[in-house]
Amino acid sequence: MINFIDKILDIYCKIPHSMNVLWIRSDLRIRNNVALANYSSQNNNLFSFYIYDEKKFSTRSAQKWWLVQSLTKFEKDLASIGVKFKFFEGAEEIIFKKILDDFKVTGLFYNKIDDPDEIKIENKIIQISNKKNLEINAYPSNLLQDPLKTNKADNTPFQVFTPYWKSAEEKYVKLSSDHEIKLKKNAKITNDNKKNIEKILPKKDWFKKFEKYWVPGEENAKKTLNEFIKNKISNYHKARDIPSVEGTSKLSPYLAFGEINVKDIFSDCLSIKNKSTGYRKYINEIGWREFAYHLINHFPTMKQKNLRSQFDNFPWIKNEKFLKRWKKGQTGYPIVDAGMRELYETGWMHNRLRMIVGSFLVKHLRIHWLEGEKYFQDSLLDYDPANNVAGWQWIAGCGADAAPYFRIFNPMLQGEKFDPDGIYVKKWVPEIKNLPKEFIHKPWEMTDEICAKIKFNLKKDYFEPIVDHTEARNAALQAFQSLKK
Ligand code: FAD
Repeated sequence: MINFIDKILDIYCKIPHSMNVLWIRSDLRIRNNVALANYSSQNNNLFSFYIYDEKKFSTRSAQKWWLVQSLTKFEKDLASIGVKFKFFEGAEEIIFKKILDDFKVTGLFYNKIDDPDEIKIENKIIQISNKKNLEINAYPSNLLQDPLKTNKADNTPFQVFTPYWKSAEEKYVKLSSDHEIKLKKNAKITNDNKKNIEKILPKKDWFKKFEKYWVPGEENAKKTLNEFIKNKISNYHKARDIPSVEGTSKLSPYLAFGEINVKDIFSDCLSIKNKSTGYRKYINEIGWREFAYHLINHFPTMKQKNLRSQFDNFPWIKNEKFLKRWKKGQTGYPIVDAGMRELYETGWMHNRLRMIVGSFLVKHLRIHWLEGEKYFQDSLLDYDPANNVAGWQWIAGCGADAAPYFRIFNPMLQGEKFDPDGIYVKKWVPEIKNLPKEFIHKPWEMTDEICAKIKFNLKKDYFEPIVDHTEARNAALQAFQSLKK
């Protein structure tokens, strides 16, 4: 590894012997990138680098695809403003040390990431930098505000969303005017990191399907936001719950890679004249993202452990067979299976479905929420360390402001309410597309006569439900009751 880096640095990068450098982490955008703007306006020789650590991404297979697309595009964008870019692979602190050993770096610029694991890495980099007397120029993360700054009157963290957001939003609106940063333009350069970047793609190439659904990169992030504001935001409060309709912004993967600054989303929304109910609801969802970061920063252990320790004795069940059926979308509950198949096919799942499939895993199957969290982490293009863990703890009932454990989503009723004509389910579970509408969310209730008429055999053509809804629900409630003893 080190030899490889030596070669690359010597032959190719030619970092001048005394300079400041820009550490690119997750803010893969030019627009409103505070570290980049400050770096480029204060320096002449512009060199940026990204360190890819396979250990970090080994549990995020889907995101590797997005990262490859995103870095490749970002390199070109950086080149167009005169910033050289180098892609390295290895543990961040080891590669960083190597860069410092070989070159006289005098200062470091970067944007922060408010994820406790990233903060640990940042602290190591700061330590190494301090030893070499580097000047550190760190800028705020891709959040509306510092997640530790908004607390209750007694200075303890919020654990309920509504009062948190009331306080945080008010503060942010007061602050939100001075984020526009002008970039200076320089000559174009060319670069050839592409081959090394592409090496990180997973061996199994299911991700090729993602190309049909997504165009990563800053340009498309901005386009997606503009279209959402123009055509969808006013009806967002209604359409956001209907999975067969594209009623949400689908900005989550762009946010996960920092291809758009959340402050720009917020300010573009603020500039809308008609502050509709849809607008309010949308701003609220952005607030949930802030809240998730508030939580993981105040309670970093929640990435692995129940926020409410009352759940530590919950009788989870280990069942590899059922877990596998859930992952593959073969539970026999069409709405659950549709959600899981949408995830596998597109790398994204509608929020309503995340709640339905999540509830099914932790309540009907009583499999630990960490299993779900892990699978989502690996499969979602928009995996976000705060939103994912907060989402899973919320659904399991062990998190902040969580859905109470005894509120168990009924997959049939959820399907009938949010996909009444079965449009979504038929799209992702085509084997049941000929079922009469009244059975689309409960195929097992069809009589032999109906099955014969439409030539459908539940066992052969689809799946029998892996658990009985009523029995599973009662067992989950009983398990929950056991916590109270
Ligand atoms: P929109 O409805 O357009 O919302 C706009 C933005 O607001 C989103 O991009 C997101 O940044 C934020 N947002 C919306 N809903 C939530 C929410 N409930 N919690 C926090 N932020 C929210 N979101 C992720 O970005 N990454 C994850 O890994 C993730 N895992 C989840 C796991 C579970 C079990 C659940 C229930 C939810 C999870 N969410 C996650 C939240 C939510 O489902 C997604 O943010 C949303 O579906 C993304 O689609 P969108 O961009 O079209 O959302």
